Order: sequence, then structure tokens, then C-alpha cells
Amino acid sequence: MTIRVWLLIKSVLLCFVVSSAAFAQDGAAPPLSLADLDALIEQDNETAPTFDQRGLIDLLALIAFLTLAVVSFLKKNTTLKYATMVVAIAYMGFMKGNLVSVVHIFALMEWSFPLFQYNVAWYVLMLFTVVSTVLWGRLYCGRICAFGSLTQLMDRLLPSRWRVELPPWLERRAIYVKYVLLVGVLGYFLVTKDNSVYKYVEPFWMFTLSGSTVMWTLLAALLVTTIFIRNFYCRYLCIVGAGLGLLSNLTIFGIKRWQQCNTCKICENACEWGAIQGPKISVTECVRCDDCEILYDDEDKCPHWLMLKKTTAKLEASKAP
Ligand code: SF4
Ligand code: SF4
Repeated sequence: MTIRVWLLIKSVLLCFVVSSAAFAQDGAAPPLSLADLDALIEQDNETAPTFDQRGLIDLLALIAFLTLAVVSFLKKNTTLKYATMVVAIAYMGFMKGNLVSVVHIFALMEWSFPLFQYNVAWYVLMLFTVVSTVLWGRLYCGRICAFGSLTQLMDRLLPSRWRVELPPWLERRAIYVKYVLLVGVLGYFLVTKDNSVYKYVEPFWMFTLSGSTVMWTLLAALLVTTIFIRNFYCRYLCIVGAGLGLLSNLTIFGIKRWQQCNTCKICENACEWGAIQGPKISVTECVRCDDCEILYDDEDKCPHWLMLKKTTAKLEASKAP
């Protein structure tokens, strides 16, 4: 195991210890869970908590985290990316239970949101998710979502020989399962108004450690599958990911491609999200993980630069007296 992986493990453990300590000190005010969100929507103005010092600290912590995520993305810095994921799991996941959920899509359908003045951090996260998706694509999935971060770190730490790749024909079809689930669950909610269905279609409740036996069993099966099939839930089943994938069609700043990408397979093989097919990148599947973009910029690996160097050397040789 490399030193970097050990450092990663130590960072995860450190974050868990720090977050657990903060959690313990905060016993009088438990973090906002997905179930709490629904309750908040129902609360009237008089009983809702005020935007106090705690709200301000939450907001500042969220802004600091989002800044780290954006800096890691813009700088294409792998160490910062993994640091962002560790913080996503510890802070956004276990400490705050602050993830975009299908419950929020339900709220959008009913145009029913928590009161702004009492939930500023929540609004900032939602706004960031939408704006960053329109600007760059599924950045939220790539490094903000605690569950996505968890499965990506699993993929980084587990031996690659355990991986099973789906055959391309199955992969091409399986990615549509999440869109079928999106339509099915939203249809179910429209008819029944039962938003508790989220417990069975997404695993985000795990960060609040509040599940029934059935839910924990389903989660265990999901995580075991993820050991063998990279980012299994995110790629094939996540309803939020499907929604963000649809929104990604509006992405303004996509990933650049070279002419040589038509034949080269280096990035296609490196993409752990199956988002590259030949010369095309599927914006709905890409989570802006940086892997291919780092490869594009690598002048010693990417054929684009190697051919450019060769052509330049030939030109210079032909000009030589
Ligand atoms: S696909 Fe779903 S679980 Fe995966 S990172 Fe995106 S929102 Fe999170
Ligand atoms: S490797 Fe490239 S195409 Fe694949 S998810 Fe990462 S950024 Fe997107």
C-alpha cells in the first residue's frame, strides 16, 4: 500500500474522530437529517429555530467546504479532491446529514421549502448544486455528496483485481435504470404523497445511523455490490444523480476533447463512471472527477501532446539549414 493511501486512511480516521467529538459536544441540538427536513417544512414560523450563532457556524463551515471543493476542481489537484471527499463523508455526511435527496425533489414538486431565514445553509447547498451543475456538470456527485465520496474512496482503496466490469452492452442499458426509478418514484409520490419512500430508494439515511433492519440489510447488499462494481449505486440507481444528469444537459463549460480522442482509449479506460465512449463524453454520466482532464494535460501520456511534439520537431528539422 502506498504512503498516499495510508495518509488517506489516516485522514478519514482523523475526520471521524473530530466529527464524532463535535457531534458529542453538540448533543443538545442534533444535526438536520433528511427526515428532519420534512418536519421542518411542516413547522410554522413560531416553532422553527432561529438563524442564531449555530446557523452562522453551519453556514460558514458549508461555505468553507464548498470553497475547498471548487478549488480542488479548478486546480485539478488530486490530493485536495480526496481531502474534499473525506470532509464530505465526515462533515456533510456523519455530522450534518446534509445531502441532496429525492425528498428535496418532492419538495420542489410541491413548491414547499423550509423557511429561508432559518435554513440559509440548506439553501446555499441547493443553489450551489444547481449552479455548479449548470456551469460544469455533476460536480456535486464528483466530490460534494457524502455517499458518492464514500464509494469513490472505496474504489480508490480496494484492490482493482476485485473489480468486475459490466459488458458494454449491459452498461449502456443499465445507466437508464436510474431514470426509470426517477420517473417511478416521482409518480408514486404524486399519487400517494408518501415521501417516506426515500428510505428504500436511497441510502443517505445511513449517515444519521437511523435505519430499520430491512434498510440496513439493503444497504449492506448495496455496499457489498459496490466492492465489485465501481460506484454501483451512483451509476445505475441514484435518483438524485439521474436528476442532476438531466440538468447536466445545460452544462456551459464542458470537458475539452482533442482530435486524437477519436482513436485513443486511455481516458475511456480510466473513467470509472463509464462516461466516455470513443470521442464522446456523456454529460449525464460524467461527474467531473478530473481523471481524464488530468490525462489530457499530461504531455507525456496523452497522444495529442506526443503527436504535437513530433510534428513540431519535424517542422523544426525541416527548417534547419
Ligand atoms: S449519483 Fe447520487 S449517491 Fe452518487 S454522488 Fe450523485 S447524488 Fe450522490
Ligand atoms: S474521467 Fe472524465 S469523463 Fe469520466 S467522470 Fe471523470 S471527468 Fe467525467
